Amino acid sequence: MSDSARTVRVYKAAHAIEAHLLRGLLEQAGIEAYLVGEHQNRAYGAFSHLFAVEIRVPACDETEAREIVARFEADSAETVARPGWNCASCGESNAASFESCWNCGAVRAADRGAGDEFR
Ligand SMILES: [Zn+2]
Repeated sequence: MSDSARTVRVYKAAHAIEAHLLRGLLEQAGIEAYLVGEHQNRAYGAFSHLFAVEIRVPACDETEAREIVARFEADSAETVARPGWNCASCGESNAASFESCWNCGAVRAADRGAGDEFR
């Protein structure tokens, strides 16, 4: 087993979308990242986003990769910490990550900017 080919796990993504986001960031920094688990997940087709994906990098890039991961996690935490919102239509409270009301389906009022493009 060659030591130069050794990779280390720097992150376990909750789903493939997160893994691809992080791999993009790592590649911008010149680090070749490998996604482990994604291949097996293809068998599940539409449900592949439900499976965790490991992100591995060459051992020599571990320190730099971990810094990027830490920044990525801090950004994610900020997103999660966003306050929730109350539906303008039915008054139900929704989590910040919801783009439309879980109760009545009304689009989040604060996101009207993007919705205006339909008019
Ligand atoms: Zn509502």
